Amino acid sequence: MFTLWIPPSHPRRESLLIRERLVEGFKRGLVVPEGLIAHGRGECFDYLIGESTQPFAHRAIEAAIAALLLAKHPVISVNGNTAALVPGEIVELAREVNAKIEVNLFYRTREREEAIAKWLREHGALEVLGVGEDASATIPELFSERRRVSPRGILIADVVLVPLEDGDRTEALRKMGKTVIAIDLNPLSRTARAANITIVDNVVRALPLMVERTREMKKASKSDLEHILRSYDNNKVLQEALRHILSRLSELSQTKLTLL
Ligand code: ATP
Repeated sequence: MFTLWIPPSHPRRESLLIRERLVEGFKRGLVVPEGLIAHGRGECFDYLIGESTQPFAHRAIEAAIAALLLAKHPVISVNGNTAALVPGEIVELAREVNAKIEVNLFYRTREREEAIAKWLREHGALEVLGVGEDASATIPELFSERRRVSPRGILIADVVLVPLEDGDRTEALRKMGKTVIAIDLNPLSRTARAANITIVDNVVRALPLMVERTREMKKASKSDLEHILRSYDNNKVLQEALRHILSRLSELSQTKLTLL
């Protein structure tokens, strides 16, 4: 499927392969050009974080799973980039936590909604909400096309997982009283700061981990899950993410950086 061949020894291989997935998604009509730019911003933060899942992300993942497992109406909101990068994992996670999957796009067109829904169905989704007339309800205070949601999905959800969201919508969902879980590599974005739980990690690493951890955590009791959620502090997690970047840069700034 990939059009680009990257030598196995290439030091930036993983990152280039992820880019290729987005380019493929763009060609399939899932991703918009703006999505490619958004990915670039994420890549920059991934570089700073060290391109691996850090303890603060593991803690956020645990709290996120607890929230999803305790939810009455959990929903996973999917945009073009998420669909292009982790379609199978979205479907698996939805199945594990019994969540609905809803397409929600900033640049909404019927073709793109349908292309994403079809892509998710090809990866095993039985039902995809938010396509066409199904997105008939609206989120108050939002003016973009992202205000349109499904009355069977995000409108009635108590917990919404929004991988790769924008700040306005995160804030609007919070104002509606929903618990919002974001996955965002930038600990300073409005999304990261407005969410209840922020997983500061790349979606390509976070989603498979979430599926794996959910399978383990499903065995936990309701009171254990409630305890995890009660003792979680998102502000601390964001501060830790920043401190991690700070100490990493501080260490790097004292080492030899030139390669040759
Ligand atoms: P906000 O409105 O929250 O301040 P923004 O305007 O900075 O967001 P957007 O363009 O809406 O950002 O979306 C891009 C966001 O998604 C960035 O914060 C970026 O760090 C994050 N991002 C991009 N790709 C990934 C990825 N693969 N995994 C996790 N986060 C990502």
